[in-house]
Amino acid sequence: MSRLLEIQHASKAFHSPEGGTITALNDVSLSLSSAEFLTLLGPSGCGKTTLLRAISGFEPLDKGQIFIDGQQVTDWPAHRRPVNTVFQRYALFPHLTVGGNVAYALEISGKAKAEIRARVGDMLGLVGLSGLEGRSIAQLSGGQQQRVALARALVARPKLLLLDEPLSALDKNLRRQMQLELKRLQAELKIGFIFVTHDQDEALTMSDRIAVLAQGRIQQLGTPETLYRQPVNRFTAEFLGESNLLTVKMGAGAALLADGQRLPATGSGQGTLMIRPEMLGTAHVENGLRFTGTLKERIYTGTSNLLLVETAGFGTLQALLRADAPVGEPGSQVTLYAGVDDLHIIPEVAP
Ligand code: ATP
Repeated sequence: MSRLLEIQHASKAFHSPEGGTITALNDVSLSLSSAEFLTLLGPSGCGKTTLLRAISGFEPLDKGQIFIDGQQVTDWPAHRRPVNTVFQRYALFPHLTVGGNVAYALEISGKAKAEIRARVGDMLGLVGLSGLEGRSIAQLSGGQQQRVALARALVARPKLLLLDEPLSALDKNLRRQMQLELKRLQAELKIGFIFVTHDQDEALTMSDRIAVLAQGRIQQLGTPETLYRQPVNRFTAEFLGESNLLTVKMGAGAALLADGQRLPATGSGQGTLMIRPEMLGTAHVENGLRFTGTLKERIYTGTSNLLLVETAGFGTLQALLRADAPVGEPGSQVTLYAGVDDLHIIPEVAP
């Protein structure tokens, strides 16, 4: 069975206004099985939008190929591709009603009136706007406008929906609500979603898989759990969640820390030991590591206490404890423990 989307070795460079070149995509390959929620995550300028525009046909590639549903579409114009995009700015037609906006694509493709009415009604029901067909766009809240934009993009039944930071204009609560709704819609409609964000929490909560991009390259592609627990490099470890990163030397079946502690590990040369703050605790662990230092700060967040502990050999370590775990006063000595199974070593990769 062919995949819904296959991108092979996509590269794209732009001329910079200063006369140099900017590599927006650097040999990007990825594929999407049908009905998957894939998120492109990365800092500003890493190539997320360029990749979406290449898939939708608005940005020709310098090199590489794109297949949608088994068909080579690399040279197809945007309107022939079975893909639709929802943008951060909804780009709705302000002079049309809600119904008119959603019906637009069906009308220009010459569908019968009765069919259009039924499909628009179904789609508005799906995004929670039943009965608002006749409203003007100006009479809607930001969240409602975003739902209209979604309905408009979905009504033509694209195989693939591209979403370019569609929630970034919404306030926190609405954003959270729309995240859940988007996830539900995707599961219900069983189409592929490619979602662009630079918000790591959004990526972790919504995605089946995440592609972390930096400087036009995919750093890692995998499930949220894999990326969080087993990042392949420091960039992914730091970009996704908080982490304590300690330099280790590997050899003879062990990783050696600066203070002489050892962990079983394969490989050789330099590496980075990643310890997520929630993996450090104050309860003694037999098989693992221990770090002693001075409690500099305790930050209470309601569900937890974040401790900043100044150590002699490793700088400041962050530990996230349950709020009810006993914690001393700032200035007191603390010993933190991490179990060996909760640690992850990132081998140094030659540049
Ligand atoms: P953001 O999160 O800020 O939207 P992004 O990850 O979507 O960023 P892109 O918009 O894909 O990044 O841009 C990738 C790089 O290519 C950036 O350095 C950008 O300045 C550059 N770029 C994008 N489009 C053009 C263009 N038309 N002309 C010149 N440079 C461009």
